[in-house]
Amino acid sequence: MNERPLHTFRGFNMKVTGEPPRPTHVPQRPAWTCRVCGDEWPCNAARENLLAEKQDDPTGTAVLMWTYLESFIFDQGPGPLGDAFERFIAWTRPRGAA
Ligand SMILES: [Zn+2]
Repeated sequence: MNERPLHTFRGFNMKVTGEPPRPTHVPQRPAWTCRVCGDEWPCNAARENLLAEKQDDPTGTAVLMWTYLESFIFDQGPGPLGDAFERFIAWTRPRGAA
């Protein structure tokens, strides 16, 4: 496996905005800790960035996070799915949704 960020696959390219590059909170595989802050990925900054990028498309965020979840399971093996779901998918749901 190479370590290209998954968001560069499947059409999830980030828009070029002309803003200066900021350190991007991306996962360090196969440990799935953040390369920038060292927290369990997705860290709070990564979640905020992902939500900000796709604020009009929460479903797109969930689909993107599902691809990360698949890679996480590939790297770490099967484990408690509820925990992984909370970590990767649950927070992508729009606020107020059931
Ligand atoms: Zn981070």
